[in-house]
Amino acid sequence: MIRIAVLPGDGIGPEVIDASLPILQAAAKRARLDLGFETALVGGAAYDATGHPLPAATLKLCDASAAIFFGAVGGPQYDKIPDPNLRPERGALLPLRKRYELYANLRPAKIFPGLEGQSHLKPEYLKGLDLLVIRELTGGAYFGKKELKKDSAYDVISYTRKEIERTLHFAFKAALGRRKHLTLVHKANVLLSSVLWKQVAGQVKKKYPQVAMDECYVDAFTMFLIRRPASFDVVVTENMMGDIITDEAAEVTGSIGLLPSASLGVKKTKSGIFGLYEPCHGSAPDIAGKGLANPLATILSAAMLLRYSLSAERAARSVEAAVAKALADGLRTRDLAGPKGRAVSTSQMGEAVLQRLLKAKA
Ligand code: NAD
Repeated sequence: MIRIAVLPGDGIGPEVIDASLPILQAAAKRARLDLGFETALVGGAAYDATGHPLPAATLKLCDASAAIFFGAVGGPQYDKIPDPNLRPERGALLPLRKRYELYANLRPAKIFPGLEGQSHLKPEYLKGLDLLVIRELTGGAYFGKKELKKDSAYDVISYTRKEIERTLHFAFKAALGRRKHLTLVHKANVLLSSVLWKQVAGQVKKKYPQVAMDECYVDAFTMFLIRRPASFDVVVTENMMGDIITDEAAEVTGSIGLLPSASLGVKKTKSGIFGLYEPCHGSAPDIAGKGLANPLATILSAAMLLRYSLSAERAARSVEAAVAKALADGLRTRDLAGPKGRAVSTSQMGEAVLQRLLKAKA
């Protein structure tokens, strides 16, 4: 039996996980995978129950699992926790990333047929948009030395050659399986850490002659992502720049409720790479508990879990196809339908995808 740790978390986290879990279970069953799901507390929910956002029991479960299926954490009430290390994101998500060295954060962004109108960009700019951002996740400013004094503060951006190399190898390999085009985003005109990224990229590139590599300053990239988003295939960058450009990529596609993510690390299990899978969005306290959340980002994260942690590519594709079919059939949650359009609830969208998955040929 392959164990999967399910951590729903806060806000809309439990709702989107509830809508997605039956789909992951059904796809795994069809692929004849014997999965065991175990749920544990994380984030604000864990803090309320135990005084810590990442309790020992949750860590124990994650250690014994092949993957973590994660909802979202956080909420305004937890911003007031006096010790910042006990706040949900800093106290749960960052330690999980560090513990399992989840250095490669994959965020695919594409337009599903029929959803071209969701984006703020004109449809002609979106044709063929299908990009994969790979963000380094365990280095840079978020994990570097930091200090806040009365009249000054600093956050150190620090990278080792090893950290950069492994991320670049991941990105080149991903490009090999796609359109063989890699863009390195950096700020080497002012940041020495970016100079190292550039140097290492030049060396790693020699191992992947089939992949065309170009590079772009991060400020220019934010413009090009709006001007010609379909011209990018795989984009690789350091932690903070990746954080910012992936949100911009989300906006280009139209709704944050559609974007999945996988955070993969150094640990291998019998079934694949250990990873944490979560939607790109947060806990959305403004819509929590109302059935308004779009579960598709979480369902698509489940597809990534099947692909990378369970090596079940066909099952992953069957989930993605069921999502595409539900959208093609006109199903829309409130974020996609707009304030006046006909919308289905979170659970109805989950059920619609499940039915399409079950009806599709195995
Ligand atoms: P958010 O992503 O939660 O919400 C931003 C906006 O998008 C909101 O208007 C929300 O209603 C909407 N939205 C988000 N997900 C949606 C979905 N699935 N369907 C429909 N609409 C959706 O970002 P925020 O408001 O900046 O943060 C809220 C909380 O989430 C904060 O406490 C923040 O720290 C936390 N957060 C957690 C994670 C994580 O767990 N990985 C990531 C980002 C933010």
